[in-house]
Amino acid sequence: MDFDVLVIGGGFAGLSAATILSEQGKKVLLLEKKPHLGGRAYSFIDSKTGHEIDNGQHLFIGAYAETRKFIGRIGSSPLLRFEEKLNLHFKDSSGQSARLSAPSLFPAPLDFAWGVFNLKGLSLKEKISAGKVFREIKKFRTESDYSGKIERLSVRQWLNSLGQSSSIQKRLWEPLAIGILNENAQTASALGLIQALEKILSGTPKNASRLGYSQVGLSSLYVQQAEAYIQKRQGSVLYSSKISSILYQEGRACGVTCDDGRTFNARHVLLTLPPWDLKRLNVPDWLKTGLESFSTSPIIGLSLWLDRPITPNQTTGLIDTQFHWAFNKNRIWNLPGKTQYLALVISAAHAELKKEPQEILEIAKKELAVFPEFKKAKIIHWRLIKEPFATPSPKPGLEEMRPFPGEVSPGLILAGDWTRTGLPATIESAVLSGHRAAEIVLKA
Ligand SMILES: Cc1cc2nc3c(=O)[nH]c(=O)nc-3n(C[C@H](O)[C@H](O)[C@H](O)COP(=O)(O)OP(=O)(O)OC[C@H]3O[C@@H](n4cnc5c(N)ncnc54)[C@H](O)[C@@H]3O)c2cc1C
Repeated sequence: MDFDVLVIGGGFAGLSAATILSEQGKKVLLLEKKPHLGGRAYSFIDSKTGHEIDNGQHLFIGAYAETRKFIGRIGSSPLLRFEEKLNLHFKDSSGQSARLSAPSLFPAPLDFAWGVFNLKGLSLKEKISAGKVFREIKKFRTESDYSGKIERLSVRQWLNSLGQSSSIQKRLWEPLAIGILNENAQTASALGLIQALEKILSGTPKNASRLGYSQVGLSSLYVQQAEAYIQKRQGSVLYSSKISSILYQEGRACGVTCDDGRTFNARHVLLTLPPWDLKRLNVPDWLKTGLESFSTSPIIGLSLWLDRPITPNQTTGLIDTQFHWAFNKNRIWNLPGKTQYLALVISAAHAELKKEPQEILEIAKKELAVFPEFKKAKIIHWRLIKEPFATPSPKPGLEEMRPFPGEVSPGLILAGDWTRTGLPATIESAVLSGHRAAEIVLKA
């Protein structure tokens, strides 16, 4: 055998698995089809401004325990900053502002409860009703058959069943749900939201509910560091290496073939491809059939450079608008100068995906009018990125189609954000699956 493990795919799942395996003395070869690593979370340099652009702003949360381990392993912890306290700004289409925040001394879930209690735009009755959601999350922790019951309900149906008014859904739960699930409340299963809220409100670690921001472009956070980590430990990384089939010997996976004819052999093949790429390979039939159930939900990111700042806030959730979030990159990256670099996001951008970039820019211009300073501002430069395959659409019924990360047939191991990790398809799910897959190889 040439290698102990072939890791296919260089996103969070592949890199987290490959770094552990190399650390433990396994001879790893990572194959990535693109000419760069990072998968669905990467950045590149904008030639006009010289700034890094993420393929879409990525948020981390304090509860991302496995991600923090991975980032720590490759020496990048100083580049990932978590906020001192829960602090999230909102603005609705009429310009009304609100803030979900709590003093830094308050741990989760007290900080969240405090934040909801002080959130503007909600009646006392609506705030008290939020307690029902907290109680349901406790049930999720303690009642073993809870997830099955809830998985078939959409976020909207679940919130309605808990007496959440349309106003509290619109001003609080839906912005959180679409941010976490990248799908609309009427389409997404409630399960993913509950899984994520359970982690956020668990209080472990203490800053579980705090948002985390990369202090550099996404690729600069983890890609180069992970690659160097693997290479220093006798591993190798090959770019532009698209695998087209898996090799089997007496029913055991023993290697892969690339579309240019190269073949590589190993004791284990660890696949981290998303379902839409995986279904093109000769994986076991039962797995292939399940992969047909995965549809995708897109994300659109608009990077906008203005000649002046329009908001001092780091992150603003936009309510009742097509854009969902406005991130202030000057604040996140501590950029000097009098201009402002904003990263705007449309999650679950099913309708907007078909629109021309200029049309989407016009939507942004209209919606940014909720920031009074925007009327005086000039757009210096803009870049639009459409990610049609951002995440699987977490529709009711999908959970049981998610295979568990692990060995799916002898020698063939599966990981990726979309596998059944007990979390929605996020960075944390990808890294958790990568770590589990690596453990299985190490135990074998
Ligand atoms: C715009 C955007 C914003 C997001 N925001 C957030 C956020 O705020 N917080 C959060 O937690 N998550 C967010 N996500 C989700 C997050 O990016 C993903 O969950 C995570 O990156 C998935 O990692 P992965 O390794 O499982 O898969 P991927 O990153 O898709 O990695 C799989 C890799 O396999 C490669 N590959 C595919 N086919 C082949 C082949 N045949 N041969 C070789 N290689 C192949 C691919 O090129 C890819 O590099 C966002 C995603 C997008 C797109």
